[in-house]
Amino acid sequence: MDCIFCKIVDGAIPARKEYEDGLCLAFHDVNPQAPTHLLVIPRQHLVSLAHVEPEHAALLGHLMQVSADLAKKLGLTNGFRVVLNSGADGGQTVDHLHVHLLGGRAMHWPPG
Ligand code: AMP
Repeated sequence: MDCIFCKIVDGAIPARKEYEDGLCLAFHDVNPQAPTHLLVIPRQHLVSLAHVEPEHAALLGHLMQVSADLAKKLGLTNGFRVVLNSGADGGQTVDHLHVHLLGGRAMHWPPG
């Protein structure tokens, strides 16, 4: 499968990893949109949030817990944002589910 994030999981292409465990890994986005911009991804290939099933609920919860733990570890005490882009209208460009963890600056609403 030609999935860039699966290649990062496999170690076939490099990434600046911040955290990994048996279910997921977190690495710095190559095109950061904030002083801190991590991607938290499941090791398992899931296309997007639109493709998850009830059996993935614990995995999704784990991605949120890891995001919160990383925000704490990286000192985002003034707040942070997590984003899950899904599908074309959601702005998803990599078809492997990923959580964006953004912090270090004030965010705006609504997003573009
Ligand atoms: P999205 O548009 O929500 O699908 O987000 C995909 C993100 O992946 C973008 O923010 C990209 O900058 C990021 N990205 C793409 N390739 C890599 C890579 N090899 N390493 C780290 N981040 C990447």
